[in-house]
Amino acid sequence: MKKTLRYNYRLNPTPEQEVKLIEFGATARGIWNLLLSETMRRYDYDKTFFFYKDMASLLKKLKSFEEFAWIKTFDSAAAQQVARDLEAALKNAFSKGRLQRFPKHKISYKRKKLHNDSFRAVNNSNCIRIENRTISIPKVGKVPIVLHRNLVSKIKTVTIQYRHGRWECSITQEVECKTAKNRLTSITGFDINSKQTVVGSNGFVSDNPKFLRQSKEKLTHLQRQLSRRKKGSNRWQKTKQRINKLHGKISRQRLNFAHQVSRQITNETGILVFEDLNVKAMQQFNGSMVADNVMGLITQLAKYKADLEGKLYHEIGRFEKSTGICSECGQRHVLSLSERYFTCTACATYQSRDLSAAKSIAKTGELDLIAAEIVARVIPTSQHKSAIKMKVFEVSKLVEGSEKKEAA
Ligand SMILES: [Zn+2]
Repeated sequence: MKKTLRYNYRLNPTPEQEVKLIEFGATARGIWNLLLSETMRRYDYDKTFFFYKDMASLLKKLKSFEEFAWIKTFDSAAAQQVARDLEAALKNAFSKGRLQRFPKHKISYKRKKLHNDSFRAVNNSNCIRIENRTISIPKVGKVPIVLHRNLVSKIKTVTIQYRHGRWECSITQEVECKTAKNRLTSITGFDINSKQTVVGSNGFVSDNPKFLRQSKEKLTHLQRQLSRRKKGSNRWQKTKQRINKLHGKISRQRLNFAHQVSRQITNETGILVFEDLNVKAMQQFNGSMVADNVMGLITQLAKYKADLEGKLYHEIGRFEKSTGICSECGQRHVLSLSERYFTCTACATYQSRDLSAAKSIAKTGELDLIAAEIVARVIPTSQHKSAIKMKVFEVSKLVEGSEKKEAA
């Protein structure tokens, strides 16, 4: 099984290249808006949609008109990519089981340094290459790139965007997953609590890191400063830019943290069980969860890392209550948010709320997976007795098949 992964790199374009990149971003936005308007007009007319083929041929036709000369200066593969993205957005908006809305027109932020246009170049016949610390972008040239990590495989596409005060490109590459293991040792449940800490049933604990809290304090400070400044003034602009940069820093810190935690928990266990975070959010989180979804990020990353390693990721079903269940006897308790520890009313075990929740998530996950015949418990072949009792599972072939179905 192959997976498309995205890696972000920093770009340092020359002033001339920067002008080009800004122009291309605006062009991509223009094409998106043009095609979207056409699609909507067509829908009003005969209730059908434009699809990729119609869009591509429309672009081809428009190129010959003088007022659409701006399309000609753009990389044609990137223009086709806009059409592909729009088609995907339209299809998503109408497919069942997805919650995407109908695509919107893109607006530009006229103020310099705050625009967030982007465009995506496609690597046709090796036109995008990395050599001598530059990346060649069609019709732009060799743009200096900061290669903080090596490429893992061939480049598929490159998205170029100005974000948070710097140029970035995100490169998609195809990575081969390790073959799914047919034996997995250990199953671990993970509870994410309202303090946004991850607790594993194997004893793993990760705290919401200090640097994120510090950056957030700084952000509140700057936002307060901004509200004191006269809107539109030079000093206001300056603060606004600092806020924008800080947002960038926070999002990079958050991503980095999520990568580290998800890597660690994937390495430590064979089967990862999480709660469905949507339900979790409804049950107990407040507004900050939506705004600062580092936990959602961790589960997302853990999922693909598990796939890459040939391990199993499982989310337990909706409305499965995990908090307040005794890890020894299964007795249910109603706990208030402030109760971090409790004593079981049935068997008198004193336990941490988070750890017992994680254990109950692991238990539910195990039952789920066995019931769905995805795994089966087996007795380990090596008979030497270790101090820790390892659970061993045999994975049925079914998993690979269902994965393929999902990918198609
Ligand atoms: Zn109990």
